[in-house]
Amino acid sequence: MPNIRFQALQAVLTRTIPETKAPSPKISDYYGANVFDIKKMKELLSKEAYNSIVNSIEKGEPIPRDMAEQVATAMKAWALGKGATHYTHWFQPLTGTTAEKHDAFFEPTADGGAIEVFSGDALAQQEPDASSFPSGGIRNTFEARGYTAWDPSSPAFLMARTLCIPTVFVSYTGEALDYKVPLLKAVSALDKAAVDVCHYFDKGIEKVNASLGIEQEYFLVDIALFNARPDLYLTGRTLFGHMSAKNQQLEDHYFGSIPERVYAFMQDMETESLLLGIPLKTRHNEVAPSQFECAPIYEEINLAIDHNQLLMDLMDRVAKRHNFKVLLHEKPYAGINGSGKHNNWSMITNTGKNLLSPGKTPKNNLMFLTFFVNTIKAVYEHADLLRASIASVNNDHRLGANEAPPAIISIFLGSQLSELLDEIETSRISKKIKEEALLWQGIPKIPQILKDNTDRNRTSPFAFTGNKFELRAVGSSANSASPMTILNLIVADQLKKFKYDVDKLLKKGEKKDVALLMVIKKYIKESKSIRFEGNGYSEEWEKEAEKRGLSNFKTTPKALDAFISDKSEVLYAENAVFTKREAHARHDILLESFYKKLQIEARVMGELVTNVIIPSAIDYQSKLVENAKGLKDLGLNSSVYQVQLDIINKLAEHINFIKENVDQMIAERKKANDIEDTREKAIAYDEKVKSYFQPIRYHVDKLEQLVDDSLWPLPKFRELLFIK
Ligand code: ADP
Ligand code: MG
Repeated sequence: MPNIRFQALQAVLTRTIPETKAPSPKISDYYGANVFDIKKMKELLSKEAYNSIVNSIEKGEPIPRDMAEQVATAMKAWALGKGATHYTHWFQPLTGTTAEKHDAFFEPTADGGAIEVFSGDALAQQEPDASSFPSGGIRNTFEARGYTAWDPSSPAFLMARTLCIPTVFVSYTGEALDYKVPLLKAVSALDKAAVDVCHYFDKGIEKVNASLGIEQEYFLVDIALFNARPDLYLTGRTLFGHMSAKNQQLEDHYFGSIPERVYAFMQDMETESLLLGIPLKTRHNEVAPSQFECAPIYEEINLAIDHNQLLMDLMDRVAKRHNFKVLLHEKPYAGINGSGKHNNWSMITNTGKNLLSPGKTPKNNLMFLTFFVNTIKAVYEHADLLRASIASVNNDHRLGANEAPPAIISIFLGSQLSELLDEIETSRISKKIKEEALLWQGIPKIPQILKDNTDRNRTSPFAFTGNKFELRAVGSSANSASPMTILNLIVADQLKKFKYDVDKLLKKGEKKDVALLMVIKKYIKESKSIRFEGNGYSEEWEKEAEKRGLSNFKTTPKALDAFISDKSEVLYAENAVFTKREAHARHDILLESFYKKLQIEARVMGELVTNVIIPSAIDYQSKLVENAKGLKDLGLNSSVYQVQLDIINKLAEHINFIKENVDQMIAERKKANDIEDTREKAIAYDEKVKSYFQPIRYHVDKLEQLVDDSLWPLPKFRELLFIK
């Protein structure tokens, strides 16, 4: 039997492209058809029930029980009408994926028949037997109860034949066990703080929504090739593999024409997404071969994050139909670009004003400057926490290496705005404004062309792009709720402080515009060191950042410290986003996930080396030995088979190195496993175990280059990246 690599290659060669069919050529005909959205509620609910939903979404008011009953009845009728058989609470535990537990609508009746049932209680709350989800010690198994509770701000949707109800997930004691609870708290803190600050400018503003548009990068690989790589299917990335002779050096993939098979997948994925109300808008090839990106139009942040979680799940399902596997790992292949998830964030008022959009009039300019500078100040104050919020074992491959945004958090503004802030910082604005006659002349005009003229700097982790900030350091597989909770929280906190500072000046009798500008000016000065317009990948920046006192945590275990620092704990408490116990629990879960993933990678590495790679190398070596022996037996001079002898020796060198290092790595793993303290254990895995990965890989990749191609069992990079 040929080895699995050749079987896989054979399978790829015989692929046909499945037919794709959208329900209608016009997207507007089917957009959101599988969502029980606000439009359908208006249609199907009594006015009273509909209003209670709207109040809950807009003001966070609880939905009365009898109203929930009505909603459940309407929801059930709608879902059954579309062929649903089951319902589930859909939630986001701290595993990073989404979770669901399906219940059938049907219930047997006394007369031996059955009816379809779905009560208001079943809609509002459930108690999944969820004792195996990570809780960081919040939920001991003896009090394992965790509850899911309906989040009416994210509409229910139909996935295959199951009605999915987005929910939060909390413990018996009310502590958050998921990503959604803290996000909702942070978003509401931002709403309140931002509205308060808006009132300096416009008393009519009642609500500020955070908006988010998530660009999602991913790789595609044929399922057969994927299945022939145990490292890929067990860890999500290739632990070995020599770089393909051709990779991304010609830059011919980026924005290139989309391969036919991929195009079919994308169309299918888009149709499914649009049916679920995910407003997917763009698609294109990314920089690396077989790397792609899609992005929806931005939405309210909670919905945008639910949609991204759903999208990741959907991509995987749709890919199966196309015999593809979607790789969401941040770094599936060493040597070429990894994948991220750019989080485009802004604040938008109920009156439709984007607070990060530079205004046309001086007054609007001042309002823009207020929110713009407060965001910068917030990131300056809590850069470490923002760094912690994107830390993961996968993302370490990007942030610590010279490719995607660096691990140093800095902000890119583009030259126009940078100069503007410099100008304000050095100008004597407040004095000028005080001299009535010169009112407003102190504020430099923000040119109208700004939006189209923003510089592009792909090396910055946090960049202003015209009317939004773009956090680019988020990992492709991450739940954006983690960084977005932090971003909304720190900006909320900063806006509260801003209001406090401005009010203090107002009390002293300062005029409003003067007070606002004085505080803005002070913040510009204080937060200056976080601003960087240059090349974030360069060595000079590392040195410069160090001089500026900016942190540079290259790997996760120490980056996570900020999550439970005193400063962060004050921040959580003042804004009621995490309790101390919740923060510590999360910290623990993140550390545990970090070392467990490394542990798995180390094990897979050991197994593959011992059972797959060394045996193949020895096979080849034996072939050479036999050949050399034969030549020698013929009485030929050793120079005739010198090459064979050289290769035999080289193979032996690599085999010995690999074997020795794998043994040492296993010994280090044993030592690390004995460490009790989670943080110390994670550090040991990071510094003592992971450090073997690269040298082992180097020698395995050398073997890949030496060994007879027909004997090599793992699909090679050129095949994974180029054969479709
Ligand atoms: P860019 O090319 O600057 O990255 P795109 O227009 O491609 O911007 O948009 C990227 C993502 O940003 C999309 O999801 C888009 O909907 C989103 N986006 C655009 N404007 C905003 C905004 N004001 N707030 C949040 N997201 C936005
Ligand atoms: Mg972008």
